[in-house]
Amino acid sequence: MKNLLIVMSGPSGVGKGTIVRELMKKGDFALSVSCTTRKPRESEIDGVSYFFITKKEFEKLIGEEGFLEYNKHFENYYGTPKKFVQSQLESKNVILEIDVDGALQVKKSNPEAILIMIAPPDKEALRSRLQARGSENKMEIEKRIARMEYELSLSGQYDYVVINDVLAECVKKIEQIILKEKEKYND
Ligand code: 5GP
Repeated sequence: MKNLLIVMSGPSGVGKGTIVRELMKKGDFALSVSCTTRKPRESEIDGVSYFFITKKEFEKLIGEEGFLEYNKHFENYYGTPKKFVQSQLESKNVILEIDVDGALQVKKSNPEAILIMIAPPDKEALRSRLQARGSENKMEIEKRIARMEYELSLSGQYDYVVINDVLAECVKKIEQIILKEKEKYND
């Protein structure tokens, strides 16, 4: 049985992290841990939330073609380590939680990847969520909102768009998508 490469994107603060955690509880998925050069937030743990590495280390890995995809935004690099994804795919469905540019890079090199966009029910709701998180200042929040417009404008290139209004329903919809794709893939 073949395993799926599931790529989830969505604007910052849309609740991707919570959705992914719920999916992980319900199914046998491997979650790819990305590398980043941004500083850890208070609650984040190295090796769990991200591998927090230096710019120099990141650029070395780029040179070694160690990333399935990578992107730079808000002055920081983010990338998906290639080795982990390839080895996990042999036994499990793998979830990547990455931005739109990275997702489209993955789709190009792995056309069988399933791209799922998580969208907010409305922008104001997302703005409130970002503000409630309190880890960014006002200017950063505005930058992230502009970024949200950009990310959502690329939804058309995704295989599925799921709105995160009620969490349980959103998770259920994603589970149904995965089931359907798995059946299709293994026909
Ligand atoms: P944050 O700094 O809020 O954790 O993440 C910022 C953005 O980077 C989010 O849209 C997140 O999905 C994206 N991101 C996280 N890991 C990766 C990665 O490995 N590759 C790419 N391209 N984007 C990532």
